[in-house]
This record gives sequence, structure tokens and C-alpha cells, in this order.
Amino acid sequence: MRRPLVMGNWKLNGSKAMVADLIKGLDAQLAGVEGVDVAIAPPVMYLDLAEQLLGKAESKILLGSQNVDVNASGAFTGDISPEMLKDFGATHIIIGHSERRDYHAESDEYVAKKFAFLKEHGLVPVLCIGESEAQNEAGETVAVCARQLDAVINTQGVEALNGTVIAYEPIWAIGTGKAATAEDAQRIHAEIRAHIAAKSEDVAKNVVIQYGGSVKPENAEAYFAQPDIDGALVGGAALNAESFAAIAKAA
Ligand code: 13P
Repeated sequence: MRRPLVMGNWKLNGSKAMVADLIKGLDAQLAGVEGVDVAIAPPVMYLDLAEQLLGKAESKILLGSQNVDVNASGAFTGDISPEMLKDFGATHIIIGHSERRDYHAESDEYVAKKFAFLKEHGLVPVLCIGESEAQNEAGETVAVCARQLDAVINTQGVEALNGTVIAYEPIWAIGTGKAATAEDAQRIHAEIRAHIAAKSEDVAKNVVIQYGGSVKPENAEAYFAQPDIDGALVGGAALNAESFAAIAKAA
């Protein structure tokens, strides 16, 4: 049985005070919530603080991060390695977010390399895939998602997806308030799962596929009622303890 994962991607937002407030609020709101994994990915700068606060509160909230490099150490200015993330208790690492693909020109192959590197270091990749508005209108959604997934499957084998997380995030739905309908998202999730099932039914059955893109407390329940939507990757609404907790409770 797949366990849903609701993860907050804080993106480039936060301060020491906000990290403390948000973690305190989330812990209070999420007390006693069962049947869902909850993770937060603050900016890497705040991992240390987040780890300390979560530890002190004996929190069940998992710690994640928003990116990783493909090198372990050395002359790579500005980069962060998997072992550094592990050092601060991060377990779930977002890779291939459309903002990184777009603003940092990250290719499918480069993202696949990060995927392999995280696995090698015992971390859980949260692999973001999804189409642009133009690709959506051209009917290319499934082909784009398949291509992004195949960069991993064709180089690492379908079994590489075991124990990892896929986040389907249509780019046009991110931060726009224009969320995909639960039915449309379900259709794409089923296609993604079918694409994986063509290589391995077992892997397809077990891999967690989150939806991301303008998930709010108001629409979360409809997504989670779909058979192939296993949680959510949440941006804006993850910056408010009440909203994020309400989404997690709906899962
Ligand atoms: P929003 O929830 O703000 O649309 O962002 C989604 C996202 O990009 C999560 O990674």
C-alpha cells in the first residue's frame, strides 16, 4: 500500500523567525495526524535550524531540501552535496523542479544524474516532472512526462524508482491558482503509472506520485480521493501552518 506524502516546498522564502514559527505551528496542528508522511523543504540555509527545532519537538515531520549537486566535494562553488544534506537530517530531496529546469537550464540528463547520486547516498529523490502550458495545449503532456521519466528509467533501470517519489507538477498550475482539476490530474497520474507499469507493474504499484500546482486546503481532498494521487508537493500554501496542515490532514 502506498503511503501518501505531503511535502512543503518553501522555495526562496523564509527567515529564522519564520522557520521557528512555521515549525511550531505545524507541530501543533499535526499532532495526532496519522496515515500520511509530512515533509518540509526549507531553503538549505535553514536546514540546521529546522533540524534542531524538529529534534527538540520530537516531531514526526520529515526534513527535505530543494536541490542537490552532482558532485561529492571539491571546487564546485555554491553547491551542496548529498552528504551535507544528510549531515543536517534531510531525507527527501526535490530535484528537477521546473523552476530549476527553466532558470538554471537543468536538462533531463542532468536531473537523472542527481537522481542516481541521491540514491547512491541513501536519500529519497522527489523527482518533479510536468509540462508547460504550450505543451499542454499541444497535447504533449504524457510525452513530456514520459521523456523526463525515461531519462532515469533508460539509464538506471525502472527499479531505480523503487522507494522514490515522483511529483507531477504541470508548470502552468504552479503559483498561478490555476490548479489542474482532480480528474485531469488523475488521468495524467494514471498515464504516468501506466508508463512505469509497461516496464514493471510492481514498481508502478509502489511508487508514490504526488500532484503539485496550486494545491490548497480547498482542493486537496478532491486530489487525494483519486486512486493514483499519493499526496502533494505544495508551494505557496506550505508557508502557512494552518493551510499546510489542512492539506496534510486531507491526505
Ligand atoms: P504552488 O503550490 O505555489 O503552486 O507551487 C507548487 C510547487 O511548485 C511545489 O513544488
